[in-house]
Amino acid sequence: MTSAQSAETRVQAETTPMVQADHVYKSFGALQVLRGITLEVEPGQVMCLIGPSGSGKSTFLRCVNHLESVTAGRLYVDGDLIGYRERGGKLYELSAKDAAKQRRDIGMVFQHFNLFPHRTALDNVIEAPTQVKKVPRDKAVARAKDLLAQVGLSDKADAYPAQLSGGQQQRVAIARALAMDPKLMLFDEPTSALDPELVGDVLAVMRDLAKDGMTMIVVTHEMGFAREVADQVVFMDEGRVIEQGDPQEMLSNPKHERTRAFLSKIL
Ligand code: ADP
Ligand code: MG
Repeated sequence: MTSAQSAETRVQAETTPMVQADHVYKSFGALQVLRGITLEVEPGQVMCLIGPSGSGKSTFLRCVNHLESVTAGRLYVDGDLIGYRERGGKLYELSAKDAAKQRRDIGMVFQHFNLFPHRTALDNVIEAPTQVKKVPRDKAVARAKDLLAQVGLSDKADAYPAQLSGGQQQRVAIARALAMDPKLMLFDEPTSALDPELVGDVLAVMRDLAKDGMTMIVVTHEMGFAREVADQVVFMDEGRVIEQGDPQEMLSNPKHERTRAFLSKIL
């Protein structure tokens, strides 16, 4: 191999997108929810996904970590085809076990935090590393304490979810997702269920995570966050990408009428 070739190989290796969606379709029966989503997220980038209710944002996130299987098209995370194995030009769906393995590297945070109610914050955070990855308990506890500190909850390790505010519960949920050392974090309206005064602390944790280089897809209506943190904003409507681009540019000067109409409602 010449040095020019090896340099080229290296460049290609370095530019594997963290997320690549290639004409992704998803239907539920006769209902077409995703109608050809094509997009890319580079490693270390933050994409904010916006769009009206019912446009398919949650479904898209659920396809990225294979909680739903796509009807057509392909999704890759860090170069790995999600949910399927390709052999002889044909696709075979992964076994539940292999799909779960793939999902381990992808953290997801939902609108409703879904913590285990009868476990403390700390026990919620160590659950997956100890059960799924078989990390020794003392190691998992040490890491969980660091993660709780990272989300500003050092003093709440022994609290039960019911003793925490919604914002604190959501920060535990973020720590819980991070405990699996994901290479990608998906956030589905993480602050939509919170009282307004609790939103800021959760967004601050997400902002720090982005600064530390985490690759993130964030479905949100927090346009201040999108403007400040996102590398790109994608506007979806009726299962299609209508417009995408730089947040400053797109949010101040949307090109498409539907983007304009949507933004005028939420800003
Ligand atoms: P968004 O997150 O943008 O509000 P969703 O992805 O949740 O949109 O939903 C898009 C459409 O898909 C909606 O019409 C919703 O009712 C439908 N949908 C989502 N999940 C399912 C499902 N499991 N079965 C049937 N329809 C679904
Ligand atoms: Mg949704």
